[in-house]
Amino acid sequence: MTYIKDKIKYVLNQYALRPICVAIGSVRLQKRSFKASLVPMTLYEIYVMCSECDNLHSVQTKIELEETDINKTALGEYYTVREIPSSIKFMQSNKYRCPHTKGLYAADDLSRAYFIVK
Ligand SMILES: [Zn+2]
Repeated sequence: MTYIKDKIKYVLNQYALRPICVAIGSVRLQKRSFKASLVPMTLYEIYVMCSECDNLHSVQTKIELEETDINKTALGEYYTVREIPSSIKFMQSNKYRCPHTKGLYAADDLSRAYFIVK
């Protein structure tokens, strides 16, 4: 008789625990994505030193980074130990028109490109 009771208890526990485990799993997942969205990101716009007029121009490239203290830092300095993202590689492959001289300047030299906080 006790055997059957135990057996019933076991079966009940098995079924009762499953939804709880699923619930815990989804709460964990929610917590993780919530945490990821809480990492504060700083928006920087890239400015490049123009070879035509020696002024800084925006090249319409923005990037969000976790670092808050790299305003006016050269990209060449920042990306010495980090992988260059595709948006920056694309910027490097482009030529931009100087608003003053109307000549084209390159943005391939990362030591002449700077993060400017927005
Ligand atoms: Zn210029």
